[in-house]
Amino acid sequence: MNPVRSLLGGLWKIFGGMGLTLRNFFRRKATIRYPYERRPVSPRYRGMFYLKWNEEKQRLNCVGCTLCAQACPTNVISMNKVGKGTTAGVDEFTMDLGRCMFCNLCVEACPFDAIYMGDQYEFAVTHKEGSVLRIADLAQGGPENYRRNLETLRRLQEEAEKSKAAGDKPTERRAAEEGA
Ligand code: SF4
Ligand code: SF4
Repeated sequence: MNPVRSLLGGLWKIFGGMGLTLRNFFRRKATIRYPYERRPVSPRYRGMFYLKWNEEKQRLNCVGCTLCAQACPTNVISMNKVGKGTTAGVDEFTMDLGRCMFCNLCVEACPFDAIYMGDQYEFAVTHKEGSVLRIADLAQGGPENYRRNLETLRRLQEEAEKSKAAGDKPTERRAAEEGA
């Protein structure tokens, strides 16, 4: 091969490569400095799920009906129900994130709008038990709202017991008390 042609061909490739590098140097960057920078997730993103806090009622919306647990295909959810009827709620609610598929079936099954999939996506833990999240981790608003939820449920149950006790009294005795 002609050595001059070979030299020119080599130079052409070198300058072509440098030109490409220069063009990309001034382009908008496609990468970010994670974890120092984070991209916003899509509004439909399904991350970690949370129990909704109801500010008006001062409690979590969850009534412990277990429909979400029944809908879950991987047996992720368990809970402890307290009270019944209008005073029903949960004082414990656990989920094992290690088994969750983020399929949203639990959210769709809930008739009380009590759970939602949040936008959290960093779930790495250093031990297996760390993937089991309890009600204080899952309550929207964290441990403080978990505590307030328990207080509200306790109050509702006391009120229900009082009104039941008043309703159970024999009519004559109640009338005597009211007349006194
Ligand atoms: S998102 Fe799917 S797998 Fe995860 S808890 Fe809900 S139903 Fe179960
Ligand atoms: S989250 Fe919804 S479906 Fe699950 S137990 Fe609570 S109220 Fe029932």
